[in-house]
Amino acid sequence: MTTAAAGSPRTYEVRTYGCQMNVHDSERISGLMEQAGYVRAADTAGNPDVVVFNTCAVRENADNRLYGNLGHLRPVKDKHPGMQIAVGGCLAQKDRGDIVRKAPWVDVVFGTHNIGSLPVLLERARHNAAAEVEILESLDVFPSTLPTRRESTYAGWVSISVGCNNTCTFCIVPALRGKEKDRRPGDILSEVRTLVDSGVLEVTLLGQNVNSYGVDFGDAGEPNWKRGGGRSAFAELLRACGDIDGLERVRFTSPHPKDFTDDVIAAMAETPNVCHSLHMPLQSGSDDVLRAMRRSYRSDRYLGIIEKVRAAMPDAAITTDIIVGFPGETEADFQRTLDVVRAARFSSAFTFQYSKRPGTPAATMDGQIPKQVVQERYERLIACVEEISWAENKKLVGETVEVLVAVGEGRKDVRTGRLSGRARDGRLAHFDAGSLAGQIRPGDIVHTTVTYAAPHHLNADGEPLAHRRTRAGDAAEAGRSPRTPGVLLGLPTIGAPAAAAAPTTGCAAH
Ligand code: SF4
Repeated sequence: MTTAAAGSPRTYEVRTYGCQMNVHDSERISGLMEQAGYVRAADTAGNPDVVVFNTCAVRENADNRLYGNLGHLRPVKDKHPGMQIAVGGCLAQKDRGDIVRKAPWVDVVFGTHNIGSLPVLLERARHNAAAEVEILESLDVFPSTLPTRRESTYAGWVSISVGCNNTCTFCIVPALRGKEKDRRPGDILSEVRTLVDSGVLEVTLLGQNVNSYGVDFGDAGEPNWKRGGGRSAFAELLRACGDIDGLERVRFTSPHPKDFTDDVIAAMAETPNVCHSLHMPLQSGSDDVLRAMRRSYRSDRYLGIIEKVRAAMPDAAITTDIIVGFPGETEADFQRTLDVVRAARFSSAFTFQYSKRPGTPAATMDGQIPKQVVQERYERLIACVEEISWAENKKLVGETVEVLVAVGEGRKDVRTGRLSGRARDGRLAHFDAGSLAGQIRPGDIVHTTVTYAAPHHLNADGEPLAHRRTRAGDAAEAGRSPRTPGVLLGLPTIGAPAAAAAPTTGCAAH
């Protein structure tokens, strides 16, 4: 395999680790690279000219993984003169110059606040034949102003804020992504409209704490905003999404129980295109553990929100995140978590065993729990969560669900001949296409009847009741992915990178 031949455009590959924020940042990295003239390596034969690692710092062994992967790439780079390696994301923001000290064959290190600089840094590193490390302490431009190559034709992420003003003791986000910065509603809505214009049916509004969105705007801050900003801003944003023609599904992640207000529940219930699904992190059901986590709500408040959501939307699917084995967690604390799980009746839960995240306050707390205790509690938690989610899913057998057909949800589909997608409430559904086999495309909408429920998915094995071809389906069939152009405010523009020079020596740049 070779890197791009002389005269052909340079190619790139992005390898992503971590959360939705990173997945969406990688869409921006791809958009930037393509605007700068690079071509995605998967679309061409040969070895990528640039490999970008978009890293995550939330796992204890994240750095081992990164340096392991960088080690594997070293011989590849040695064989391909002109190849460049860039490292960005949370681990880059944390480790900075250490990365090029530990892996001197890395060409560029960039942080979470300056994704937009990547093409310039790559050019500079190539020109100077030296590594470029650029980490900013705060955001230079809101990342959504960057061009974005979207991975899905039917569903898109839209950032409403970055960073977080909370200080949960297990979380690295405030240290690495900084204070919350909210995006103006007009900019958010115009990005949503651009996505919908290109066929997207579903949008997920993304922020570390969507409920604190707009608190600082004040009524005077946004002249076009119906009822001003302040505490009602997120509810207003949901209602405004309801006015966008062609937008069929609106989701959001993540809300924070501390800031969750009733007007958001009303907006969800009263805005037809807002899905009745709520992913609200619990983390622990014990008030003592919540206090130690520095999460300033208590279990009764959490359950109170759920009660109101269910009263307003009886069909709502509620999902959560739970950490077991936080430092100091006793068996009694863990039992409180099980109590809340039973009372909340989650349709699914992301469960995590607490692991130290270097740089967070919890990593150095007393009372770290032995691994076997954490493991044992974790297994009991999963059994409890699955029993409930299975019971909740079984209630849907015989019901009609609207499925937005996805690409590659579930490997079993290939074997079973089923297609997959998400119901409006976010549940994963596998369905038999019946006589419509071959006609249903990713992005189309299918109505079908649930015939079987498992803890993590629904099956619908009868003939579909209806199939609607959509513009997202047309785009998927044509192989088009939506792009949002971005506005390169304050960023230097550079032209397309010079085409790859024919290799003249067998040596890599460094
Ligand atoms: S709310 Fe807590 S867990 Fe979530 S990003 Fe902010 S600090 Fe981290």
